Amino acid sequence: MNESAFLKCINPSCGLEYPIYSKNIECERGHLLDVKYKKTPSTELKELFYTRRNPQGSIFNESGVWRFRELLNFCQIDTSNQEECSKYLVSLDGAEGRQSKPYQMSKVADFVGASHSGLWLQPEGYNPSGSFKDNGMSTAVTHAKLIGAKKLICASTGNTSAAAAMYAANENMECDVYIPAGQIAPGKLSQAYQFGAQIVQVQGNFDDALAKSLDDAKHHDGYTVNSVNPFRIEGQKTIPYRAIEYLNWNPPDWIVYPGGALGNISSCGKALMELYEWGWIKKIPRIAVINSEGASTLYDLYNGNFEETELRWNKGSPDTGLIERYYKHLDSKGIRPKTKATAIQIGRPANILKGLRALEFTNGIVEKVSDAEMMDGMSIVGLNGFDCEMASGASPAGIKKLIEKEVIKKDDVVVGILTGRQKDSSLPVDYHNNPQNRFAIPPRG
Ligand SMILES: *Cc1c(COP(=O)(O)O)cnc(C)c1O
Repeated sequence: MNESAFLKCINPSCGLEYPIYSKNIECERGHLLDVKYKKTPSTELKELFYTRRNPQGSIFNESGVWRFRELLNFCQIDTSNQEECSKYLVSLDGAEGRQSKPYQMSKVADFVGASHSGLWLQPEGYNPSGSFKDNGMSTAVTHAKLIGAKKLICASTGNTSAAAAMYAANENMECDVYIPAGQIAPGKLSQAYQFGAQIVQVQGNFDDALAKSLDDAKHHDGYTVNSVNPFRIEGQKTIPYRAIEYLNWNPPDWIVYPGGALGNISSCGKALMELYEWGWIKKIPRIAVINSEGASTLYDLYNGNFEETELRWNKGSPDTGLIERYYKHLDSKGIRPKTKATAIQIGRPANILKGLRALEFTNGIVEKVSDAEMMDGMSIVGLNGFDCEMASGASPAGIKKLIEKEVIKKDDVVVGILTGRQKDSSLPVDYHNNPQNRFAIPPRG
């Protein structure tokens, strides 16, 4: 292949390669794919990225995703040519990632026991559809457009469908959102409806809905935009780019994420692997993934809580049998993921192998927190004047727990990602109406 970008299977013993124009989002043996780049981007681009913060009339400079377009140039275009950018790159008028940067929040720092200057939180909820998913959706839909796809397909109950439906509406594509019949509150799907998506009800649970959506995508020329899509991962690399750029390319000690399907930590891991390989960073931050206690697959497997073996990427030979046995155990015991933080209520994280790879590269760790801890985390972020949803509360809650355990040191530099904004209005209302809750301000009168 003479192309400068291509797709490659992440399984080293498979290693199949495909051109960027390939329609398959997985390798023919069903493994995850990576987008690979042959050229090493010059560190002089750091200066260019900085100057683009004055966008000078270009929405692609304004976009927090496409401002870094040289590092995700899978379209292989002349990135300085405005016409080519307009022809190929999908952007919601530059809004994805535009508002995102790390902030210091003193009340959160006090709550978690960190120093005021060492703790940074990066809200991704101010993206146009309200979550970090827009970072990856702009790139996935760019690829969809590149290969001439007419219809986006996803299984989702919330933020993925909102992001997919928004970009589909803006690009004049169709969008089908698969949900388990009768199990989804209409409020959660309101954005998908509003952006004109077709809701498809599937008998069964979320796993059945995902399986059906993948099958229909294959047989009816649909384009899957769940995070198994490697182009989603490319756009989400810009989340750590923005954090590290803000810290003058001095990486923090830790980057902390809530863990659901594990697409986000896969993106962070890939971003760090590439930056390190390209010589852009000298230090590798450690990733900390925070699971919910009610959906703790990665926590259980990584920490050897299921069988004694601690599941590892193991240089590309992970013990996948262990994962299968864990899933069988969940099924046979009738254990279903259960947390009010629905964005991370996932029992079978589709990106678990890429997630393990990210943890191995960064010497990462996995912690878990309760619903009550996430609610406190969400609420203290609110008291600093920032909006986030319950799943995002896992970041401050996890940092607090890890500082208490002295895994994270008090003066380590930590960046926590706040993945989405509040979309479930009943949660803060219920929280504040119960005076038992730590940060509750009950109504008066
Ligand atoms: C999707 C989502 C997550 C989980 O991210 P993964 O990449 O699936 O691990 C966490 N928080 C919010 C708000 C989300 O929308």
